[in-house]
Amino acid sequence: MPADADFYDLELLLDDDDRALLQRVRGFMEKQVQPIINRYWTRAKFPHELLPGLAELGIAGLPYRGYGCPGKSPLLDGMVAMELARTDPSIATFSGVHGGLAMGSIYLCGSEEQKQRWLPAMARMDKLGAFGLTEPEVGSGASRGLATTARRDGKVWVLDGRKKWIGNASFADLTVIWARDVDDGQVKGFVVEGRPPGYATEDLQDKIALRVVQNAVITLDGVRVPEANRLQHANSFRHTAEVLRMTRAGVAWMAVGCARGAYEHALAYATEREQFGRPIGGFQLVQDLLVRMLGNITASATLCARLSQLQAAGLARDEHASLAKAFCTVRMRETVGWARELLGGNGILLEHHVGRFVADAEAIYSYEGTREMNTLIVGRAITGLSAFV
Ligand SMILES: Cc1cc2nc3c(=O)[nH]c(=O)nc-3n(C[C@H](O)[C@H](O)[C@H](O)COP(=O)(O)OP(=O)(O)OC[C@H]3O[C@@H](n4cnc5c(N)ncnc54)[C@H](O)[C@@H]3O)c2cc1C
Repeated sequence: MPADADFYDLELLLDDDDRALLQRVRGFMEKQVQPIINRYWTRAKFPHELLPGLAELGIAGLPYRGYGCPGKSPLLDGMVAMELARTDPSIATFSGVHGGLAMGSIYLCGSEEQKQRWLPAMARMDKLGAFGLTEPEVGSGASRGLATTARRDGKVWVLDGRKKWIGNASFADLTVIWARDVDDGQVKGFVVEGRPPGYATEDLQDKIALRVVQNAVITLDGVRVPEANRLQHANSFRHTAEVLRMTRAGVAWMAVGCARGAYEHALAYATEREQFGRPIGGFQLVQDLLVRMLGNITASATLCARLSQLQAAGLARDEHASLAKAFCTVRMRETVGWARELLGGNGILLEHHVGRFVADAEAIYSYEGTREMNTLIVGRAITGLSAFV
């Protein structure tokens, strides 16, 4: 790897211990992940061989306090997400689904007993999590249109419906399923353990982005879940949105990492590749591309760092996370495109890595709220007028 792109030294905002953890994550990603990830990406397989090493890093549920979780700052959590994505956005996404969406749902919406029951094993990555909100017919409109139903039958809930795009679902031990209670019409969260009768997953095939991540369609056909597995503090979509507010900040950081990974490969290439008898990095137009990329990355990372500080102070609102997610993913898409341009034809060869970032950026751009949805959240906040429909 060439010189990194932390141009304004944001890492200096971390203390020595946190910086050391970030370095460990970087070392793991560069030594263990980088050499093998293209092979998995091509075959669209998940590298289960990496799980023990990832678990050893101790980064699952990084910002949560208690329940075996490290209780670190949102800033370190964000920078770790960035660091994972800098080498591979799929591994960052896997981690975001497990530690962010799944553990976060339990941490923010579970009762004390539920947190004690599930989080320590998830923090150790002895149990892996998934998060099922999106459905085949309902993506952006999940707040109003969820069709998966939950019907209470004594001490048990009966779930019926289908979920789509659910990361980790085919191998997760615990899957948080969001469903509409037929009695009060509210969205509630249920932790499905293992593969109960009526529960089936089927991985989506032939994705052109994040091919390492296993995204599944889940079918729920009369799946019975005990009341003890209903997240006790998730009583409406407002609580689902609290989870998404936290994880969207992580996705904004991932977008920085994806852009940064592509930029760093492009920078290295610019110093090695020669045309007209000199390194292409010596051409003004190539430097222009590199500086534009660095500007995007620096602006996005700085925005994310401030968002993390707002989170730590308890001041982050939905619109703060949404602006960061929308802004950073737009800048990421632009940046990876410029990196690809800088590599010429080699930019589309997987062996030069940049092509993988270009493809993976497309998924990061759309998941956890598209640019349009996040724009509408910010638009509503600044005008007081909802423009969703
Ligand atoms: C790789 C990947 C992983 C994912 N992982 C998960 C997961 O683990 N769990 C999970 O629950 N979900 C997951 N998702 C789903 C993801 O959150 C959705 O794809 C996303 O919310 C968008 O929904 P959609 O794809 O159905 O698009 P749609 O909602 O159908 O949107 C299509 C287009 O219409 C636009 N649009 C929609 N409504 C409006 C409006 N009111 N105004 C203007 N434009 C509008 C959108 O912005 C978009 O451009 C994942 C998706 C991907 C691609």
